[in-house]
This record gives sequence, structure tokens and C-alpha cells, in this order.
Amino acid sequence: MMSSLAQPIAQATEASPRSLAGATRRELAAALLEAAVPERDLRMRSAQLWHWIYHAGVTTFDAMGNVSKALRSTLAGQFTLARPEVVAEQVSADGTRKWLLRFERTGAEANAAEAECVYIPESDRGTLCVSSQVGCTLNCSFCHTGTQKLVRNLTAREIICQVLIARQRLGDFPGLAPPKDGLVPGQGLRAVSNIVFMGMGEPLYNLERVRDAILVLADGDGLALSKRRITVSTAGVVPRIEELGLTTGAMLAISLHAVRDELRDKLVPLNKKYPLKELLAACRSYPSASNARRITFEYVMLKGINDSPAEARELVRLLKGIPAKINLIPFNPWPGAPYECSDWPAIERFSEIIFNAGYASPVRTPRGRDIMAACGQLKSETEKLRARARMIAGE
Ligand code: SAH
Repeated sequence: MMSSLAQPIAQATEASPRSLAGATRRELAAALLEAAVPERDLRMRSAQLWHWIYHAGVTTFDAMGNVSKALRSTLAGQFTLARPEVVAEQVSADGTRKWLLRFERTGAEANAAEAECVYIPESDRGTLCVSSQVGCTLNCSFCHTGTQKLVRNLTAREIICQVLIARQRLGDFPGLAPPKDGLVPGQGLRAVSNIVFMGMGEPLYNLERVRDAILVLADGDGLALSKRRITVSTAGVVPRIEELGLTTGAMLAISLHAVRDELRDKLVPLNKKYPLKELLAACRSYPSASNARRITFEYVMLKGINDSPAEARELVRLLKGIPAKINLIPFNPWPGAPYECSDWPAIERFSEIIFNAGYASPVRTPRGRDIMAACGQLKSETEKLRARARMIAGE
């Protein structure tokens, strides 16, 4: 598996989808040229469609009031505004929602690829956790997603559509109502205010598409999400970290989890390729990191493995000079996992050492555990159900 890391995967063919939902500006302009829109009208037409697709969230060309009837029908003849299919929606007791999405099958695939996307409402924000790949190649030993084989990179369109779908389901486009069974942030706030690339996959192994997607999400004429509210989390693909900062301006999160190479090699095998020293050097020079734009270090709390006070002190030492915040994540168990979550007093002790050193050290409250939507649990349930169905069918 390790040898496949540098050049991971079969790419989805970009040509097949004829839907304009999730299109980049370049793709939209190309589509309009194809629909015989004259060059001189291209800017105006692109701007109109962009507004309808991303600001208004419409799903038919007919809803585009200021576009001529003739063009609407030409477009409808050649394109759609279809979004990936929502195969399942689960709502947790705490308001967390998880959607299983099925993407259009590419030529090379026997089955359509599926990925999950999770919405986490809080009083002052709503965070959408999006996937960048179907499955993952990294094999982190505590992550369930890592035990499933990678199918492919998601396209920019498929990443953007996760946001369109979530906003639609949450009633977050003009004229829609919020779901009756749902929690969304307080009055006047957008249901989806923050995006984290913390779903399935390693975003920096799919950086071109992640970048294209971020530029669409942050486009002021459309979805208009603030770049300060878009965070990309990486297990540490060092050679691409600077590029992420330069080309997207997104916030950076690092899945650190250990303070010594020997242990990190085991938890995050990618560490063998890009050890701690190189990773932290890349963080030190991350473009536009500052005290107002801190890098988040994620640290999963594993009982008896990485949760001692000495390790907390070492963490503080390692991060010296980096504008950082530390996010302690209680380990979310999954069937057959080789780890347990640290005891609460151990988490508190760890957090206190970091806090006393001057860092914010919030402990991430596990959300959506009842629907297997918490960190590292994605896709597993669906796969399990499927495996059971196969067993029952006697395969
Ligand atoms: N590949 C990227 C994106 C995944 S983000 C990355 O590694 O950063 C998902 C986050 O959840 C990562 O910080 C990951 O380390 C963490 N995680 C994975 N499995 C977990 C589990 N079982 N319990 C808690 N956190 C987990």
C-alpha cells in the first residue's frame, strides 16, 4: 500500500458529467461556448448562471428568470443541474447529520463511488465536513476510513456539490425552509458557515481539485464562504503544504497525534516519508499563518499510547514559534479498533499542560457518534451494512 502513496489513483474522468452544478468558472464558460453563446455575451451570461447556481441554488434552468427562454431551453437540451444522489441521510440525537452520496459512475468504474459528508451545527456556526477522496490510502492505524481501500479522487464538482446538497437539505438557499427535525445555528446565521476538509481522504493528494473547489466556495458572487472559515486538514503531505497556502489561502490543520517519530510512524505511516522535523518546518513557513490565522494541530487521545503529561510538555516544546492551536480529539472507537479512548482525567491533565503554556486547547466534543459520523468513523457503517447484506445473500 505504501508504494501507491505518491501517485495514488485512478482519476475520475472530468469529461463525463454534463451537469453544471459544481462547475468552476472555466467549466461554466466552456459550457456556454458549447451552447453557442456569442463571445461578447459570455461574461454576462456566466455571471448570471453563476449567481443562479451558487447564490440562489436553483436546480433547473427554468428557474433562471433573467436568462432568455431560448438560452434556457438550449442549456436544458445539453446540460443538467443534477447533483450527486443522496443515498441516505441520518440525523443524530445531537443534531449532527450525515449524508451518504453516490457520484456519477466514471467509465473506469464497475460501481458508482460513494462518500460521506457530515454537518455539525453549533450555536454560533454550522460546520460541514467534506470528503476529498473516496476511501483513503494513508492507513492511519486509529482511523476506520483508513482501513477501507481507496476508490478514487473526487472531482472539484463532486466536492462543491457536497456543499450545495447540504445547503439545500438545510434550507440554506433563498426561499427554502430549514428542516423540521433539524438543529441549525441561531437566527440570522447561515446554516453552513464553515467548511472543513476532514471527511474521507487526504486532501493534499487531490490538491488541484481541492483548490478548484475552494476557489468556487469562496467566490464572493456565489457561495461566498470566508477563506478563514475553510480549513484543510492533512496527515502531513509536506511537499504540498506551501502550495495549499499560496493557491487557496485556506486555513491549515495538521493531524499530528504524536510527538516522537517512532510513535508517529505507527499511528500515521506517512510520517516515515515526511517525519516530524520536516512537517513542523513546513508549518513554520505556512503562507499567511499568524496569530489571527493559527494552524490547528489535531491530536487524538489514545489511552496509554500518546496521552502522558511528558508528551503534552513535548508537544508544547515542538510547537514553539508556530502560531498554533491544539485540538484534542477523544478517540472515537470502531469495531475491532486496536485502541481505546484516554480516560477523562488524562485528557484533562494533558489539556491543562497545554493551556498553561498559553495555547487554546479545546477538547473536541465527539459529535454524531450514534450515527458513526464522528472523526474517523466515516463510511464504515455503510460498508458494514453492505458486507452483512452480502453475507446474508450467501456471497
Ligand atoms: N487525511 C486528512 C483528513 C482527514 S481529517 C488528515 O489526516 O488530516 C480526519 C481527522 O480525524 C484527522 O485528524 C484524523 O486523524 C482524525 N481521526 C481519524 N480517526 C479517528 C478516530 N477514530 N477518532 C478520533 N479522531 C480520528
